Amino acid sequence: MKQNQAGEVIYRKNYTAYPWNVMRLDLHFDIGTETTTVHAEMEFQLKDDDQGPQDIILNGSNLQLVSLTLNHRTLDENDYTVDGEKLTISNAPAHCVLKTEVLIHPATNSALEGLYVSGEFLLTQCEAQGFRKITWFPDRPDVMTTYRVTLEADKTDFPVLLSNGNETNRGDLPDGRHWVSWEDPFPKPAYLFGLVAGDLSLVQDHFTTRSGRVVTLKIYVEAENLDRCEHAMESLINAMRWDEDRFDLEYDLDVYHIIATNDFNMGAMENKSLNIFNTKYVLARPDTATDIDYQGIEGVIGHEYFHNWTGNRVTCQDWFQLTLKEGLTVFRDEEFSADMQSRAVKRIQVIRDLRIRQFPEDDGPMAHPIRPDQYVEINNFYTATVYQKGATIIRMYHTLLGERGFQKGMKLYFERHDGQAVSCDDFLAAMEDANDTNLERFARWYSQSGTPQATVTDHYDAVTQKYTLTLEQSTPPTSDQHEKQPLVLPFALALLTAAGEELPLRLEGEAGDAAVHRLLIVEDARQEFTFTNIPEAPVPSLFRDFSAPVKIFYDYSKQQLATLIKHDSDAYVRWDAAQRMSTNAILEQCQRHADGLEMQLDADLVEAFRGVLSDQQADPALLAEAITLPDEDYLADQIKVVDVDGIHAARCFIRKGLASRLEALFTTHYETLDDGAAYQKSAAAMARRSLKNICLSYLMETGPGEALANSQVESSDNMTDTLAAIRGLIFVDSAQADKALSDFESKWIDDALVMDKWFIMQAIKPGPDTVNKVRDLMQHPAFSIKNPNKVRALIGVFAMLNPTGFHAADGSGYRFHADRVIELDPLNPQMAARMAAAFNRWKRYDEGRMAMMKTELQRISSVESLSGDVTEIVANALR
Ligand SMILES: [Zn+2]
Repeated sequence: MKQNQAGEVIYRKNYTAYPWNVMRLDLHFDIGTETTTVHAEMEFQLKDDDQGPQDIILNGSNLQLVSLTLNHRTLDENDYTVDGEKLTISNAPAHCVLKTEVLIHPATNSALEGLYVSGEFLLTQCEAQGFRKITWFPDRPDVMTTYRVTLEADKTDFPVLLSNGNETNRGDLPDGRHWVSWEDPFPKPAYLFGLVAGDLSLVQDHFTTRSGRVVTLKIYVEAENLDRCEHAMESLINAMRWDEDRFDLEYDLDVYHIIATNDFNMGAMENKSLNIFNTKYVLARPDTATDIDYQGIEGVIGHEYFHNWTGNRVTCQDWFQLTLKEGLTVFRDEEFSADMQSRAVKRIQVIRDLRIRQFPEDDGPMAHPIRPDQYVEINNFYTATVYQKGATIIRMYHTLLGERGFQKGMKLYFERHDGQAVSCDDFLAAMEDANDTNLERFARWYSQSGTPQATVTDHYDAVTQKYTLTLEQSTPPTSDQHEKQPLVLPFALALLTAAGEELPLRLEGEAGDAAVHRLLIVEDARQEFTFTNIPEAPVPSLFRDFSAPVKIFYDYSKQQLATLIKHDSDAYVRWDAAQRMSTNAILEQCQRHADGLEMQLDADLVEAFRGVLSDQQADPALLAEAITLPDEDYLADQIKVVDVDGIHAARCFIRKGLASRLEALFTTHYETLDDGAAYQKSAAAMARRSLKNICLSYLMETGPGEALANSQVESSDNMTDTLAAIRGLIFVDSAQADKALSDFESKWIDDALVMDKWFIMQAIKPGPDTVNKVRDLMQHPAFSIKNPNKVRALIGVFAMLNPTGFHAADGSGYRFHADRVIELDPLNPQMAARMAAAFNRWKRYDEGRMAMMKTELQRISSVESLSGDVTEIVANALR
């Protein structure tokens, strides 16, 4: 069902506070899969009671209203009006108690918002506006109240009955029924409400907080998954300890629940003390989950736990402020993962993700600032911009203020706003006031969309030994905003000699000690920095650790890139230099391919890779990152009109060339790393596996790869190695690929999560034939279009991660995908909208493909009763 049927645009500037305080909310659920009865009792107190009687406005969607009473008087249809999702009671007294009874129908709720069914249990998802599908209530984040919840159900079908807070009481009822009561003492907005009812199994542990509170930790899963919760539990305990150590934040209740479900639109949800998780981010065993899965679980468990303070205790005033909780909490989970694993590797992963997922958003029809100014459907704004770019902006506060200053700001933020719903301005003000600084210009990051471009030029004067570096910044116009202003950019840099030594950096006019690493602040459109006593023309190491989320333009020579790859102590710059060199080499060959010329392998690239692979000191995970070629989508972003087939051909050519020229090195590494040792979960073991498997992927291009992959499939004791080997076989069309896939299928056919990987491996195979495979796989018994994980694994991966499949020249990929969007929309508009976004950048392609994508967008938009979610995406794309 649509959230906002009129397609009405909601503006941030129109925010007004809710005129009422809701003093308490008592809920009683009579649970049934077909029909659940919800009784709600809420006490209203007018904030300003001098005003006289005021209207009470409640939100509701798809509710069957049984009764409505105000101060014991039953209201009839003359006493209130219902208009779409709004129910208005006119002229209510300044203090009143409202009681409602409604019926809802979980079994037919396929949108997975509100109360719905997953396997053997019922559960809720209320963010952003799902609570209105449960009962009439002011469903907006600035209305916070305390909840008392009683759940009543059949004891055999629903032995477990959970809600937020602490359990206060329970009892049995006649006819095999029972009830449980919960009370959450912390006021919260409706989007943090949670309920779970059903037959689930439990893994339990505990954590003692620094002040001595013993917290019971409970993970509920379906019975067959009990042996896959260990890593999630360990991650939760690590997260609780880390938040005390690093942010001085302690948990505040006696119990913490995590419930894992197969049917979830998102990754996980931070409902107070009742986190609901996609199974993907809970369940792991070495033979079922890859190293990436393990890292993902640690990160998401941390993320939802950290929300307890940044999101729950202090929440958002309105949904425009989503980045207040998400940008900040993503920053916190990134730091957690960096402290648990390798900081350098984590940074590179985060930066790559931002470039691949967020930069294109800025360049597309849905461009928006991290704090949007308007939306039609808020579910469309759970974006990489709000989350990932939001986190880099929090990281810039951290860079500018330092760890101590940042933590001072956090402390003041909680002192001022604990228990409140606030705005991004309040966060900025706390950072300013705690550090006695002015961040007025920095605030532009909240209102300006787009990826800034930083163009660096330089001049070296050998006579005066002065080196002048000029930085010009500009942000290209975006679909939502034409005028752009200069931004505050933390600009971290070093200067290297040709031999790789870091030079002491003294700006003209400075005295005292000179550091080799400097943090400069750029605020203007153009700024110059002149360094003195520079003995030779240096190699600039720019925006170290990616100190600002910008596209960096500097005309590096191959020699300079080689120096950075070999010597830079900053892992990001070193990795980025390798990416630049690979990107240049691939795009050059792409151009030759377009011009009908034979492609050539760049000898400097071979030497650079040889150097990387010969580095005995570096973390193997960093080496793996450095020799991973840029994705085809990233390469596509670097050219004006995307040449889908040319990029693919050029990238394959370079891969093959590197593989054959460096075969001996790849083989040596593979053999050393493939030491037959039993699986270990440690970061060091993961790093070794990542390098081993990237070496294998190169070796697949040459003689020995196939045999190595086959024996790796046979001997593997973990999913990382198994998947890497089977993927390798699929990519080279090995005769063994089908057997490996069918063995995998027979082994895991009953395992929903592992079967996702089986779908992904096939959906991602390059080439125009894959669409037929994907269409066939939709008939597989393990596939269901109603399950978001399956949709993402098969349809999402094909459309978003398989450029030569989705963009097949005959348009078959586009037609197939548009059909899926249309099929999904009536079932699950949120998922349909996310899938529709695959067409967002249609204007970047050649005329033939543009015309075909436009046709499909128009076909989607002409569907009758299309949801607001998809309408907003498609209308923006076509605009
Ligand atoms: Zn979050």
